[in-house]
Amino acid sequence: MEIETETVVTNNENNSEDIDIKTDKVEHYENFEDLELKTNLLRGIFAMGFEKPSAIQQKAIKPLIDKRDIIAQAQSGTGKTGTFSIGMLERIDENLNETQAVILAHTRELAYQIQNVIESLGKFMNLRMNLCIGGTTIRDNINELLENPHIVIGTPGRVLDMINKKALNTRNLRILILDEADEMLSKIFLNQIYDIFRFLPNNIQVALFSATMTPEFFNLTKCFMRDPIKILVKTNELTLEGIQQYFVNVERNDFKYDTICDLYKSFSISQSIIYCNSRRIVEELAHRLIENNFAISYIHGDMTQEERNNIMQEFRSGQSRVLISTDLLARGIDIQQVSVVINFDVPNNIESYLHRIGRSGRFGRKGTAINFVTYYDIKKLHEIEKYYGTEIQEMPSNLESIFT
Ligand code: ADP
Ligand code: MG
Repeated sequence: MEIETETVVTNNENNSEDIDIKTDKVEHYENFEDLELKTNLLRGIFAMGFEKPSAIQQKAIKPLIDKRDIIAQAQSGTGKTGTFSIGMLERIDENLNETQAVILAHTRELAYQIQNVIESLGKFMNLRMNLCIGGTTIRDNINELLENPHIVIGTPGRVLDMINKKALNTRNLRILILDEADEMLSKIFLNQIYDIFRFLPNNIQVALFSATMTPEFFNLTKCFMRDPIKILVKTNELTLEGIQQYFVNVERNDFKYDTICDLYKSFSISQSIIYCNSRRIVEELAHRLIENNFAISYIHGDMTQEERNNIMQEFRSGQSRVLISTDLLARGIDIQQVSVVINFDVPNNIESYLHRIGRSGRFGRKGTAINFVTYYDIKKLHEIEKYYGTEIQEMPSNLESIFT
């Protein structure tokens, strides 16, 4: 296999060991037919309305079918879920009554969404799957897993629990997929992921997907991946051209509320997500807006799973149009109608910025991102611009030009 000479991610100078963070040259498959997939899988793909594979699908499905470990990076909204789902489904033996694939995601909402995609893609196949997430009844989950579903989609905590309880049988696992892989290997989940690995067959195929990857992330992957194929994107090519990015200078936190009220008429025409940096700010903003008769809904990790499900269902169906959220929904969530993202607070984490704005502009659609900037945030905003090699312009007063 040819290797491109250009290094995509610079090596962390503190690392004594050399990491080979280069993108591998792989063959492109410009049509789904060329991948020689099972007929019923191909039917599922076309029934989804996928006509041609996206760029990442052209490159990354084949190595998955070929049982290669893979680290695959691609911009937000470019079809990574389809990539690993199609690759995984081709690897599943429908006649084998064993759990063969585990897909891990960082939130229950994302796990649920992935399950829906796999159900659609696999609807002509003879598949059984289990959604293995917190906030559901443990007993039911155990019983479902004891029937050896072909595919388990879950969050790390519950999956580990089910392995420990000997409900999830890992003996015949062929493939492990981590979506939002850099988040999955962050401090929050790393120990759980390591613990899960202890129960996996040695020769299991591992596939990692995300829009963002750091040198530290690559460093961590070394200990559990075997000669992975790497498909990477340069940081300055990560922001999408279709997403216009603006800032509004609100000067002080106190002035953010009036600004959001002024803007509401314009952005609520399209579906939109407003991000705040804490659960407390989400609640405060939401309550204030609701008191003043603005139609909004809100979500964060401190709500019951039932509440979270209801809010997501209403937002997905378009019944609610403006959703206020923490970073719970920064990554992965795919709602094609969302065309405006507002950072009520500029995120503290540089990766988070890219994921948040990537909730709009899905699969080539147009999107708008608006950042509320206080004096204190100006430096952060410049750092974001520099890191992604992108431009965040001051929002024009003529709003019609940006929301239509
Ligand atoms: P990512 O994980 O890369 O951010 P997703 O997998 O969530 O992106 O896909 C974004 C959107 O693109 C989804 O709504 C999905 O249905 C759509 N999509 C994916 N692949 C294709 C394709 N080949 N043709 C048309 N639409 C696609
Ligand atoms: Mg995704």
